[in-house]
Amino acid sequence: MSDEQRVENLIIVGGGPAAYTAALYAARAELEPLVIEGFQWGGQLQNTTDVENYPGYPEGVMGPEMMNQFRAQAERFGTRFITDDATELELTDGGIQTVHVGKDTHLARAVVLSMGAEPKRLGLPGEMELGGRGVSTCGVCDGAFFKGEDVVVIGGGDSAMEDSIFVSKFAKKLTIVHRRDEFRASKIMQERARNRDNIEFLTPYVPEEFVAGDDGKIAKVRLKHAENGEEKELEVGGVFIAIGHRPRSELVKGRIETDDEGYVIVDEPSTRTKLGGVFAVGDLVDHTYRQAVTAAGSGTKGALDAEWYLRDMPPDPEQHWGTNTGAIVEAVEASSPS
Ligand code: NAP
Repeated sequence: MSDEQRVENLIIVGGGPAAYTAALYAARAELEPLVIEGFQWGGQLQNTTDVENYPGYPEGVMGPEMMNQFRAQAERFGTRFITDDATELELTDGGIQTVHVGKDTHLARAVVLSMGAEPKRLGLPGEMELGGRGVSTCGVCDGAFFKGEDVVVIGGGDSAMEDSIFVSKFAKKLTIVHRRDEFRASKIMQERARNRDNIEFLTPYVPEEFVAGDDGKIAKVRLKHAENGEEKELEVGGVFIAIGHRPRSELVKGRIETDDEGYVIVDEPSTRTKLGGVFAVGDLVDHTYRQAVTAAGSGTKGALDAEWYLRDMPPDPEQHWGTNTGAIVEAVEASSPS
């Protein structure tokens, strides 16, 4: 490690609404934050069309456009960005934090983790093999490719309804397959889906297998009745899996305390983790709300917590280069649920 290497005040890892809002606040606090925003920056909003529930946009706004604006606002106050993926994090308790991006190493006195969440998978035969060949986890990204096809959407939450409403603009017929007769989705989203002529509901069925046709693309979905076990096959040209999300905490697994679903544990209502100088925000910590506006609010808290930490207990690089991360990992593992 060269003596000249810059030690940043704050590195923010992530590129969604929480990360950019943290960057905005940190930049305005003159911390000159560095954001490792990921190659596919913009987070889940990059895969969304109309956002109608973010205050301040009475006419709605497109998700990617909104992320551009968030990013530009953070940049205006001096945020710097690396548009690549963080590949490893070396976290210390109160010392200098290290973020690797491929062969490059970045050092900081504090870090805000904001890696967000990603779509859950079913883990069924054919699911991964047919990814990009008719099986998708993002209706609003891929829906337009399914013009005139019969498609299935799996799930019973708002994501499933939103995907269905969007994809039904292109599909000939769309069947929402859900494992229960009751839906988790909000009433308004369910109603919007039920009001579309080409959307049908099939419950309570669970998918069992995705089957390819001779052309290597999805051709059939095998389903089973969740109660009486009756089997059913649907011929389809596309499948959208919309069963929720999981936190993207792989980078910090074993390095920081997470719950049994992988969400990073913070000392609520703050964003502090058990490691001094390490904060976590947005969907990475949020089981419940997972909205752009709550993520942005959480990013604000992360930046303020980091600012206060740097003001009150700035780590001394000379004393902390050698912090024993191994001991911290052991402590974290001992305190994490198995
Ligand atoms: P969610 O609310 O957790 O719903 C996931 C759905 O997938 C549930 O119906 C669940 O069934 C089903 N599911 C989960 N695992 C399954 C499996 N292995 N096999 C079959 N089905 C499975 O997730 P979400 O729909 O992504 O929504 C997450 C949050 O984002 C919610 O707060 C939602 O309101 C919000 N959101 C809002 C909008 C909007 O307002 N425009 C759009 C998208 C998301 P069970 O019900 O049986 O558990």
